[in-house]
Amino acid sequence: MSNLPAAPITQDVLTLPRKLPEGGPVNLIGLTRDQVHAALLAAGTPEGQVRMRAGQVWQWLYNWGVRDFAQMTNLAKDFRARLAGNFTIDLPQVVTRQISADGTRKYLVRITGGHEVETVYIPEEGRGTLCISSQVGCTLTCSFCHTGTQKLVRNLTAAEIVGQVMLARDDLGEWPVKGAPKVETRLISNIVLMGMGEPLYNFDNVRDAMKVVMDNEGIALGRRRITLSTSGVVPEIARTATEIGCLLAVSFHATTDEVRDRLVPINRKWNIATLLDALRDYPGLSNSERITFEYVMLDGVNDSKADAHRLVELLRGIPAKVNLIPFNEWPGAPYRRSSGNRIHAFADIIHNAGYASPIRTPRGEDIMAACGQLKSATERARKSRAAAAEAGR
Ligand code: SAH
Ligand code: SF4
Repeated sequence: MSNLPAAPITQDVLTLPRKLPEGGPVNLIGLTRDQVHAALLAAGTPEGQVRMRAGQVWQWLYNWGVRDFAQMTNLAKDFRARLAGNFTIDLPQVVTRQISADGTRKYLVRITGGHEVETVYIPEEGRGTLCISSQVGCTLTCSFCHTGTQKLVRNLTAAEIVGQVMLARDDLGEWPVKGAPKVETRLISNIVLMGMGEPLYNFDNVRDAMKVVMDNEGIALGRRRITLSTSGVVPEIARTATEIGCLLAVSFHATTDEVRDRLVPINRKWNIATLLDALRDYPGLSNSERITFEYVMLDGVNDSKADAHRLVELLRGIPAKVNLIPFNEWPGAPYRRSSGNRIHAFADIIHNAGYASPIRTPRGEDIMAACGQLKSATERARKSRAAAAEAGR
């Protein structure tokens, strides 16, 4: 704790009336720095101190992972009591945790209202990626995506988005230990907004949450360690660069409008040409910050050599890499995964044209944690009950 300034609170704070915000205590999690500042002011922290207090509270929350105001030991006891009277530190709750044979962890996370989302941790050699959700369900209905079969229930709040990162750090034991040397290899070294939902339809909350996660005095994940994946919400794409600054991935998946209309129906609103124009204009686009084109490999649908050649033509002029995703099956899915040979032949064509074309290794399939397999467990249970009732008729 030596890096935190010891600053005793002055008497005038203690004598201020304790102001409870309207509507009860406010959850501090997910508030941006400015919002924490404003919240502390509203709770009666004197203006002259609020900057320092907000910084101290921030470090407790996001550097040390503390969940109890009583443990914020560099704050005077009365100030801690004031905080406890005005604020909460609320995270979503982990309902179940499943661990795959390959080490992938899937958390079923319950949020206010009893809704559920899934968060997936994918450990890799010397690094690890956390895949987080931005919505319960999705308004879009991509025909190969399990989440797309679940109607949108609601957007996640910034607290619920940051909360997924925090609860994964809890589970992995990744908060720093006071007095212990700094651990250089991070278990969660990268974040991908590739869980449930379309992040660009919940832009403000996603942005605020990522600002919290990127803040240097807390979780401190650099902007280039975060990738936001969109199905192609064209009007919001540029804001990803200007307001968040993270990397961009696009669920491309087809090389003609005819096929993309069927796979990614948002294409009927913003077609391939419109999407590519937006990507060409993406602020800050460069070879070191390329756009990832995600391409799910569906047997006989979008996996021909002609598709690969068309894709290369479409990418021309855009610093890009192509991430090939072998289709992950789910109960009732209308597609099959392309064969290994097809996928490799496709990858070679892209690669020979000068674009990186890694094939994503499916992870956590045995626990339905792979790309596109996520869905609320309650929704799964509801569907299987409905199917059982149907079969029993
Ligand atoms: N809604 C956002 C982010 C979530 S999906 C988006 O669509 O981009 C993350 C990636 O997994 C997307 O590229 C999505 O198209 C892909 N995906 C969805 N279902 C899949 C499945 N069954 N198999 C493989 N990839 C899938
Ligand atoms: Fe929604 Fe993305 Fe699934 Fe499409 S692929 S239904 S946008 S979560």
